[in-house]
Amino acid sequence: MKLKTLEISGFKSFADKTTIEFMPGMTGIVGPNGSGKSNIIEAIRWVMGEQRAKDLRGTKMSDVIFGGTHIRHGLNRAEVSMTFDNDDQYLNTLFSEVTITRKLYRSGESVYQINGVDSRLRDVQDLFTDTGLGKESFSIISQGRVESIFNAKPEERRAIIEEVAGVHKYKQNKDKAQRE
Ligand code: ATP
Ligand code: MG
Repeated sequence: MKLKTLEISGFKSFADKTTIEFMPGMTGIVGPNGSGKSNIIEAIRWVMGEQRAKDLRGTKMSDVIFGGTHIRHGLNRAEVSMTFDNDDQYLNTLFSEVTITRKLYRSGESVYQINGVDSRLRDVQDLFTDTGLGKESFSIISQGRVESIFNAKPEERRAIIEEVAGVHKYKQNKDKAQRE
């Protein structure tokens, strides 16, 4: 599974449609303070289903929609699409290429799509089940989070390591079985 492209339009500082192509190997995104590097990572978390405006540095979800600058009006819609090469079927679907899309209008209307077909948030989340990806996973570590991991108590750090190692879900299943 490889991340191929990310298309951002009307999301935060990306008013115009911006396409980022990911080449094989490692990708670094550099730029001055305030140029939108963190907004790119937030676009990735958002299209994967992030529901908490606060974790996207906003107070309400519509804060992700381009709000305008002194030379440009705000927009009415934010849209992000992310395309994966899924030849190895790492994602939970038979499609060899998968594009997930999320749109949000100022009216509050919200749309998720998988390969252009309207889908539920749940369907998008299911694609990433047990892949170690997903908006909650530790494959995305935001600014400030590194420090909090270093400063975590040993038990908290253990929980993080278990999560990364994929042990977490077995523990959840075990707890559930013991309760039943
Ligand atoms: P740093 O190097 O300081 O971490 P950065 O490259 O990560 O900076 P971001 O935090 O991604 O920068 O971008 C911040 C910019 O995005 C600010 O100028 C802010 O005004 C702009 N921005 C955030 N939300 C919106 C929005 N809804 N509409 C327009 N601009 C926005
Ligand atoms: Mg930043």
